[in-house]
Amino acid sequence: MSMQVYVNGAFVAESEAKVSVFDHGFLYGDGVFEGIRAYAGKIFKCEEHIDRLYDSAVAICLTPPCTKAQLTAICEESLKVNGLSDAYLRVIFSRGVGDLGLNPRLCKKAGLVVIAGAIKLYPPQMYEKGMEIMTGATPRIPAEALNPKIKSLNYLNNILAKMEGLEHGMEETLMLNSQGFVAEATGDNLFIVRDGVLWTPPEEAGILLGITRQTVIDLAREAGLTVLEKNVSRYDIFTADECFLTGTAAEIISVTKLDGRCIGQGQPGPITTDLLGRFQRLTREA
Ligand code: PMP
Repeated sequence: MSMQVYVNGAFVAESEAKVSVFDHGFLYGDGVFEGIRAYAGKIFKCEEHIDRLYDSAVAICLTPPCTKAQLTAICEESLKVNGLSDAYLRVIFSRGVGDLGLNPRLCKKAGLVVIAGAIKLYPPQMYEKGMEIMTGATPRIPAEALNPKIKSLNYLNNILAKMEGLEHGMEETLMLNSQGFVAEATGDNLFIVRDGVLWTPPEEAGILLGITRQTVIDLAREAGLTVLEKNVSRYDIFTADECFLTGTAAEIISVTKLDGRCIGQGQPGPITTDLLGRFQRLTREA
């Protein structure tokens, strides 16, 4: 049976899951989205993801086509109709169908798509050995231009940075902000460990406030660790004991090399490994 995708009011077969070329989500990247995981049939941090989606919608003056409760039900239904218990859900609000101009007011109704699919993680050996990343020349878009807190359909900034890494055989690229501090990676937030203390760039660094980032902050504090939301420079990463990335798809992945230089011992460190274990217990055994 083909995958069932929810498109503007109904579940349709994957091959029939289409939106108009006049949807401003397609024409201009005018819309917002979420990437959500389900573990053992339960949607992880569902409320947090849906709240962030609605906040993103408010920030771009997009009127959601349904209530939060309705959207939660559609996400749950997406798992059910596809017989999935471990899955990645992609939820998209697009501005809707308009004309060829920019004016979003001509788009009468926002579009809604929910895709339930498999999750594509980094290869397992990357979790065991750690990942190598590089600093991109493309800075993270400044909050004054488009606040990275908005998870918008406009990912070109991140895609340009991602391509820089891919050119060099790397799966992730570090993005600095216009002050030269670390913002985040193209699809993940960053943490370092220094003398047993976790540091992660603050909201003001111009980041997406990752839901995995917050989960890791909570888990670390529960474990008695200090977590500082403070500016991180490349120097701080080079001289850190450990470094890792967090994201819905990636979960927690150790970073062992930046720009060709080993971080710490050049292998996943004890705090990263402990937090990954705690995260896996939280998601898989809840
Ligand atoms: N930063 C960016 C730019 C992202 O796209 C994502 C999500 N893939 C993250 C951070 C991580 O956020 P979350 O933990 O909520 O998935």
